[in-house]
Amino acid sequence: MKKYLIDPTKHWCKANLHCHTLLSDGCLTPEEIKERYMAHGYDVVAFSDHEILHDNSRLTDEHFVALTAVEYSINDHADHWRDEKTIHINLFSRDPHNTYHVAASIRNAGRYYERFKDEYRCDGYDRVFTKEAINEVIRRANEAGFLVQLNHPNWSLDTREDYMQIEGLWSLEILNYCTELETATEYCPIIYEDMLNHGKRIYCTMGDDNHNDGKKDFGSYGGVTYIGVDELTYDEVYGSMEKGNFYCSSGPQIHSLYVENDTLVLDCDPAMNVVLTSRNRRFRNTWGEELTHVEMPLEGAVEYFRITVADAHGGRAHTNAYYLEDLKV
Ligand SMILES: [Zn+2]
Ligand SMILES: [Zn+2]
Repeated sequence: MKKYLIDPTKHWCKANLHCHTLLSDGCLTPEEIKERYMAHGYDVVAFSDHEILHDNSRLTDEHFVALTAVEYSINDHADHWRDEKTIHINLFSRDPHNTYHVAASIRNAGRYYERFKDEYRCDGYDRVFTKEAINEVIRRANEAGFLVQLNHPNWSLDTREDYMQIEGLWSLEILNYCTELETATEYCPIIYEDMLNHGKRIYCTMGDDNHNDGKKDFGSYGGVTYIGVDELTYDEVYGSMEKGNFYCSSGPQIHSLYVENDTLVLDCDPAMNVVLTSRNRRFRNTWGEELTHVEMPLEGAVEYFRITVADAHGGRAHTNAYYLEDLKV
């Protein structure tokens, strides 16, 4: 029997899960973001302005979902920001109308706070850069129905010790497109691999983190998360995110992925290499010039596996990790 991991009968929404607008330090209005992203084939944008949790659901219609989100910074307050370690997390709200901050930091909200203080609702929990406080912020977020993504760990100067001790994460942003363009350090599947190998069960996502300086497109349309839904509604998009029914890509798309008789069957855009990665140094390659259909035995995989599709232009598609025990049910 076929067990679909990426089901071709679903609609695979094109989503940008990391975006800044004029509400914080971006340069476009949410309306302009919607218009430009829809013109590039997107169905979903998470409006994750810095410290501003704003309900943009007036933009949601039958062709577009505006996810209610926020990017929180938890800073160590070094003397100079270039030396400052930080944790940046995106919170995605189950309820599009929930704008109650689970962990406000008026200090971090800084210049945006004055503009939004009339709608800034919070219970006053301040954020500090300690393991306990970071995990408490995430615990509160999860309890309030937010999925929590760890953003751009390299830009943040996060070390292995930092990210390994974070609990309650839903996903790791393995490509932050804008930061990758600027620093060439923010494509980091190795950190995802490290977390999986050491027992973290989380998903992986890509996002733009676009600010659109000068109202230009720089930093947009490079880090896509494709989310499988039956119908394009807020609840379906959030539900599929929660269940891990998505993959991410900087180029090639995956059209179908299933397991049958311990063999993995993949259909994708033309690729030059498909990698099946499992625990530690367990991997299997299929090489070719224009691979669009690949079958690989799962034999030898331990605990979990994930797939990477590499095209000839440097684009990569990454699936989440799938656990062998889940395939049996
Ligand atoms: Zn950030
Ligand atoms: Zn950001």
